[in-house]
Amino acid sequence: MQHLLGIEDLDREQIERILARAEGLAEVGRRDIKKVPTLRGRTVVNLFLEPSTRTLSSFELAAKRLSADVVSIKAQGSSVEKGESLKDTVATLTAYDPAAIVIRSAQAGASRLVAQWTDASVINAGDGKHEHPSQALLDVYTLRRHFDSLDGRKIWIVGDVAHSRVARSCALAFGKVGAEVTLCGPPTLLPREIDRALGCETADSLEGIEQADVIYALRMQKERMSQSLIPSLREYAAEYQIDSRRLLPRQLLMHPGPVNRGVELSSEVIDSPQSLITEQVESGLFVRMAILYELLAGKGSDDSEPVSEPPRIGQPA
Ligand code: ASP
Repeated sequence: MQHLLGIEDLDREQIERILARAEGLAEVGRRDIKKVPTLRGRTVVNLFLEPSTRTLSSFELAAKRLSADVVSIKAQGSSVEKGESLKDTVATLTAYDPAAIVIRSAQAGASRLVAQWTDASVINAGDGKHEHPSQALLDVYTLRRHFDSLDGRKIWIVGDVAHSRVARSCALAFGKVGAEVTLCGPPTLLPREIDRALGCETADSLEGIEQADVIYALRMQKERMSQSLIPSLREYAAEYQIDSRRLLPRQLLMHPGPVNRGVELSSEVIDSPQSLITEQVESGLFVRMAILYELLAGKGSDDSEPVSEPPRIGQPA
């Protein structure tokens, strides 16, 4: 695998390989010294042109735990703010000969473009409302810690489906590992034909959600809405909020973060024992280490070359 641009490009075998690798790397996380030398001497660039807490911190830490050199650039404070184009920014960063560029952008398809402009492996850390593959992989990994298999498990993804890259990547990933996915939300936030495109069911009310093994709530993506698609957040919450009345004791609860408390989830379910939200963050580190490992380990490293002595001062180089 050269890049990770979307779950749409992966088959079940590739997903399983990354998850198995993540399990091995989770063991490293339990050691006193949580570092392995796999990517020593390689550079990972994080280019985050949209806000992020979890994804950026875990890609940074993942690369450091694999001993890579890490550079993280955010839109704010960088030359992107001065109007530099994505192509020029990538050309600048490519001058450091990075092994990987992890990119987050508001533009769907940005990571695929970047992959055409650089020899580095490109990882899509979220491109507009298109995909967020590392999120979906960490979510499958998290669920595997609770269910032996996801085959036949019922997962409801609830909320702003239309603007959510997480909904797209998770629906594809959960489906590829055998789960039955239902996408649920107000009709204005549920694109037509999405069931056919992603191979899942759709529902415009919570009726039937009691059958779900897992409820996966989405954040309202206000930054991607050009018009008002719901009457108000209060009315949305009345119809679609997952609260302690709607979450059954046998059901697991997930959310990619950041959560709008009191909108898509009530405070008591966020803090309930069924909530996997913190576990998702923990899994993110191991799964992102596994992604970097899968794309970079063994490729393009100079480990096989003998390390030459640096020339001494006064001697010809
Ligand atoms: N953090 C996730 C994303 O970047 C989910 C969200 O922002 O709602 O897509």
